[in-house]
Amino acid sequence: MRYARQEILKEIGSNKQEKLLNSNVTIVGIGALGTNALDLLARAGVGRIKIIDRDIVEINNLQRQTLFNEEDLGKPKVNAAKEKISQINSEIDIEAHLIDLDHDNIDLLKSDLILDCTDNIYTRFLINEYSRKNNIPWIYASVIGTKGMTFNITKDTPCFSCIFKEPTETLDTCDTTGVINTIPSAIAAIQVTQALKILTNQEYSKELIHYNLWNSEINKIKIKKSNNCKVCNGIYEYLDGKKSKNEIKICGSCNFQIKIENINMDSLFEKLSKLNSIKTTDDCLILNDVIFFKSGRALVRAKTKSKARVILSKYIG
Ligand SMILES: [Zn+2]
Repeated sequence: MRYARQEILKEIGSNKQEKLLNSNVTIVGIGALGTNALDLLARAGVGRIKIIDRDIVEINNLQRQTLFNEEDLGKPKVNAAKEKISQINSEIDIEAHLIDLDHDNIDLLKSDLILDCTDNIYTRFLINEYSRKNNIPWIYASVIGTKGMTFNITKDTPCFSCIFKEPTETLDTCDTTGVINTIPSAIAAIQVTQALKILTNQEYSKELIHYNLWNSEINKIKIKKSNNCKVCNGIYEYLDGKKSKNEIKICGSCNFQIKIENINMDSLFEKLSKLNSIKTTDDCLILNDVIFFKSGRALVRAKTKSKARVILSKYIG
């Protein structure tokens, strides 16, 4: 009964509904795109969904990250999202991972389909290489301002590296440009529709879809494979760990992410929680200006990288 309206739809029907229930999808990033995509996939009855995110819910997320409410402030996004989804569809399986996806834990992506809902180009290059190497389809999506785009990347299409060049420091972000709250919903709707097609073995778009929501302009752009593309030629620099990201500014906040190495996180937690902790969960310890994660990283609230380093050194020397 739950999927009755989908099963009478000629594009889905009961056979393809069954396929969805047996599917396994990974969503990377549970922000504006990710909460919208997760909500739709869960309601559509995708049987197993893995969610990966490294961040916590902040007040400025509530404008567009549709699964969260004020009670979720300070909670890891994956935990808050899993809680909400279990109230929406308790018949499917949600696996939550509070981690920073990188080359050393990339096998978590293993599934039938990967949705990119990140706001970070490094992670996209990483997903692209993993997907190319292991022949797993993925769907790129991004939004900024009042525009967004999405592109299905499979063995039958060009890859992300065929189109986009190496990350630079000067990319516009939602931080500097802002984002209207309707564009993530619109792009996630396109992305999830493509996901349903791919999961049920139906013809999907092989063009990059660009949507200017403010002007109601949608464009489909033909993309060609690049002969010089390293990834299409089997060179995986991100997977091999040759590209590093020790300090990354996270879009949508003033947080810098810094990896913490050679420190026992359990004893650090024990020490700091006695001092001035605001909140401690199994996975993270929240202080005024830093959030420590057991997985060996910290989110530091600061305007610049160097200020972030100074703040961190107060706690870990
Ligand atoms: Zn390529």
